[in-house]
Amino acid sequence: MTISVKMPEIEYDTEEERKEILKRYRKLYRSVKPYFKEGDANLVKDAFKTASDAHREMRRKTGEPYIYHPIEVAQIAVDEISLGPTAVAAALLHDVVEDTDATVKDIEQQFGKKVAQIVDGVTKIPFEKELEWANNASSQAENFRKMLLALSDDARVIFIKLADRLHNMRTLGAMPRPKQLKIASETIYIYAPLAHRLGLYKIKSELEDLYLKYTQEETYRDIAQKLRQTKAKRNKYIQEFITPLQEALDKQGFKARVIGRSKSIYSIWNKMRRQNVTFDKIYDLFAIRVILDTEEDAEKTDCWRIYSLVTDHYRPNPDRLRDWISIPKSNGYESLHTTVMGPEGRWVEVQIRTQRMDEIAEKGYAAHWKYKERRKQTKGIVEDEKRGLDGWLQALREMREQNEGQTALEFVDDFRANLFNEEVFVFTPKGDLKTLPKGATALDFAYEIHTEVGNSCLGAKINQKIVPLNYNLKNGDQVEILTSKKQKPATDWLQIVVTGKAKSNIRDFIRKERRDTLKEGREILDKKLKQINLEFSDSLLNQLRNYLDLKHPSDVLLQLGNGYLSPSKITKFRNWKQRSEDKEARKTEGNSSTIPIPPKKEQEPIVIGENSQLDYTLATCCNPIRGDDIFGYITINNGIKIHRATCPNAPALLANYGYRVIRAVWKSEQNESFLVELGIKGNDRIGLIQDVTRIISNNMKVNIESINLGKADEGIFEGCIRLYVSDVNHLSLLRNKLTKVEGVVSVDRLDEV
Ligand code: MN
Repeated sequence: MTISVKMPEIEYDTEEERKEILKRYRKLYRSVKPYFKEGDANLVKDAFKTASDAHREMRRKTGEPYIYHPIEVAQIAVDEISLGPTAVAAALLHDVVEDTDATVKDIEQQFGKKVAQIVDGVTKIPFEKELEWANNASSQAENFRKMLLALSDDARVIFIKLADRLHNMRTLGAMPRPKQLKIASETIYIYAPLAHRLGLYKIKSELEDLYLKYTQEETYRDIAQKLRQTKAKRNKYIQEFITPLQEALDKQGFKARVIGRSKSIYSIWNKMRRQNVTFDKIYDLFAIRVILDTEEDAEKTDCWRIYSLVTDHYRPNPDRLRDWISIPKSNGYESLHTTVMGPEGRWVEVQIRTQRMDEIAEKGYAAHWKYKERRKQTKGIVEDEKRGLDGWLQALREMREQNEGQTALEFVDDFRANLFNEEVFVFTPKGDLKTLPKGATALDFAYEIHTEVGNSCLGAKINQKIVPLNYNLKNGDQVEILTSKKQKPATDWLQIVVTGKAKSNIRDFIRKERRDTLKEGREILDKKLKQINLEFSDSLLNQLRNYLDLKHPSDVLLQLGNGYLSPSKITKFRNWKQRSEDKEARKTEGNSSTIPIPPKKEQEPIVIGENSQLDYTLATCCNPIRGDDIFGYITINNGIKIHRATCPNAPALLANYGYRVIRAVWKSEQNESFLVELGIKGNDRIGLIQDVTRIISNNMKVNIESINLGKADEGIFEGCIRLYVSDVNHLSLLRNKLTKVEGVVSVDRLDEV
């Protein structure tokens, strides 16, 4: 057949180059021609002419005319992704807006909205030259985030970007070394997984191989050379394996071809690395593929008939049977895989699939669409759209929307976990199939069912057995979620989920809870301040933060709101503040704006768990002293805090965060003293303070830090004494003596109130 293509008129520096450009264009034109509908011939021709003129003066790093690049990108789009004329036109024009004065508007006027939108989408994805390669993970993640956020949800934009990347990788040799490394790394991190996820197996493989070639040239060449050296032997083996199969297939009337295919260099390298073995220890350097030509109705049955035939000849390994025909992978992959014992006792992987499945496996979704059109007319095939390309693009949209409030690292991590990884298939108790990304846990599943189910998830029953929230789902698990009204999400739940849906729901819940707690804390604080005649202000809040030794002013409100901090602490703060200000006033006459420095807490020896080296602080809500019954609590931001077992916050901590509690015991006797606060109440009389102080300092040889006896109210006094004791026995002796002072009614540790 002769093809007559009326060539567009273009100019170029040399006749030789002009001819080469036209030759390449003609090849492209021929490949896309079968897809032409009315007007497409002119569309492609005009796009080529425009691109050619636009890039007229430009050359690639290789020295070649720039127009080679858009032509090659379009060629890849047709040959390896099965895209049609619109995408070809867009591919030809993809660098025009980026590199010349032409605007998206110009493109739209000449080529229509569709082409313009695709070109615009491709242009918006930050090109390698815009992104500086960063050594540090978080700025590199920021680059990736920009790239991922720009990914349009028009699949053709992503396809053309991948074709663009593939051609840039093929011509990477012309780039300076640092650029090579940067582009190659991006490729392996983002583009190869993207290609894989979209079912573009051929492109994915080539990208991976090129990555290896440019990052570890020696390794790459070494494996390539060994593959060549062993090729004849391998082919002989493959032939020996195939011949009886092919004969049997022919005899039974199947239209099928059996081929042997080498694995990619990258996948061999990966295997060597993972299993830590040398090249000659890798036995599955190839796989056998049976490709069958059959009616669509008979696909599944015929593939299984062939499976039966293969296993008549070679003994199968029952653990290695994979049926992706009944449940295709979410990237569209369908195939039946088995591993059988071949000649010389070697395991050989056999892939059984139809012509249609093979094309989809190699060329992905676009090829899939081509068949889907036909498929719609055949009956009985239920397409689970959530798992197809539409579902993927939907998930991409969701990821973009959730981007706010996430760091770049979190975003890129989530993206990779959600959109690249393959998934596990699990069932609800009713037998509905759910697909989740690999690594998903029971908790992810709960959120997949419903936000409320997730928020109240206690655990799950997997195949009738109870498992914790963080159970990793496996293919085929039947999952029943156990819930409780008392349950609620905690920050560490974020560590046990992988889906974006679960993460954003947990974050939402925590954010809302935090807001509520802050509000509640503010209410408690306001009420308390009113009682003790203080006015709320930011500087007051900051003084409180300082006094309580917390990181942020909001922590004061949070701790009040969730009850970790007793409001009585505010009274103590007021007292302490007054004292410090008095002192300050005496010292520096009227300079009251300085924030008083709280007394330094002393580290005292406690053994935590089995370890006496761990850092800790004594909780300010209950101020433990030696001899108190204590426990350690691992806080989120403030390390380990030691609380008394009788601390008012203890029940809440133990009940809700039992897993954060650790054993703590006092180390054997040390020479040390602990600050305690005593509340003292009684009937006022002259000389009472003198009596109290005398007992404390003379009789008991105790250091008083401060003594503050409040206003007498109708003959009643109330006061607060801060002093140092060596342990609980010392304290109880002191309390006994104080209670015996005439007029004193009660002496209590303030922290117990
Ligand atoms: Mn390009």
